[in-house]
Amino acid sequence: MSGPNTNYDPVQVTPLKAEQVEQMVSEALAAIESASTTAELKQARLDHNGDRSPIALANREIGALPPQARKEAGARVGKARGQINQAIAAKEKVLAAAELEAQLAAETVDMTLPVRQHPVGALHPVTALMDKMADVFLSMGWEVVEGPEAEAEWYNFDALNLHPEHPARALQDTLWIDPVEKGALLRTATSPVQIRTLLERDLPVYVVSPGKVFRADEYDATHLPVFHQIEGLCVDKGISMAHLKGTLDHFARAMFGDDIRTRMRPHYFPFTEPSAEVDVECFVCRGESVGNPSRPCRTCRSEGWIEWGGCGVVNPRVLAACGIDTEVYSGFAFGMGVDRSVMTRNSAPDLRDFVEGDIRFSRSLVGGAR
Ligand SMILES: [Zn+2]
Repeated sequence: MSGPNTNYDPVQVTPLKAEQVEQMVSEALAAIESASTTAELKQARLDHNGDRSPIALANREIGALPPQARKEAGARVGKARGQINQAIAAKEKVLAAAELEAQLAAETVDMTLPVRQHPVGALHPVTALMDKMADVFLSMGWEVVEGPEAEAEWYNFDALNLHPEHPARALQDTLWIDPVEKGALLRTATSPVQIRTLLERDLPVYVVSPGKVFRADEYDATHLPVFHQIEGLCVDKGISMAHLKGTLDHFARAMFGDDIRTRMRPHYFPFTEPSAEVDVECFVCRGESVGNPSRPCRTCRSEGWIEWGGCGVVNPRVLAACGIDTEVYSGFAFGMGVDRSVMTRNSAPDLRDFVEGDIRFSRSLVGGAR
């Protein structure tokens, strides 16, 4: 390294001789030419044009030359560096193009290769039917509400007008959660969701609550300890049995076809008064199998009607338990079993098939599910 040098020193300026500079350039060009990757080119740049390269060191010497030599050496070194830079830039382009080409070739995907088929999952027929039922009400502006499956006794029984002495409570089919005296149980119906709704929401309410319910039933062809219900509840001013009938007729037409009929048979439920069981006209034979032995119907057992669910005008005691003014408000409620509906609609003979997870069952119903 030299500072300003007033005396001409021939040793120091040796690298600035024309043949020396040409030598540097030809070595640089050879190294650049032989680089076959961008990494090698980077190294060639460092070696031949970097801060510590011969040409860079030569460049530093220029300042030390007397003025007359400085101009000539400066031009020579400047030209040499220009040549090296151009060669590097040109080689860079060539290498980048070649590397891109190689990358594209390596990453080529053969679109003609056969793909492995993955079976697509599907909703369980019970879930699919529950969704379809809920959709009918959503389209009328009702809301879908859900609640806990482990429930307090009060919501499941007391609030629904099933007092502690009520026979339904003594039935052996409630699944209680230990310790029993804490009053926690697995809900026996989706009705506690209605109570929660009435307690939590402002009136009017128009809600359906689909979900799992639990009873200590035998596990056989027609009973499951876990099954599904959908219940509906409307509480508003001036609601009567007529609104219930109109709603169920619409529901039935949406599910079974345009001109399907419903009928009500008087019944008793503690949470509705009056109460009824609702039947839907057989959607297979439309009643034509009745008294017609030549055209028997398996779906309705030639009775013309299929049991569909329970319903009624909400018992004022239930509304009062939720703090509602029964002088102003009234309502109706209904409930249907979903699993039995899937059974009826698909002539599926055994409820156990619903829960045993054999995909052939779900597939056969999903394809032809009504
Ligand atoms: Zn029938």
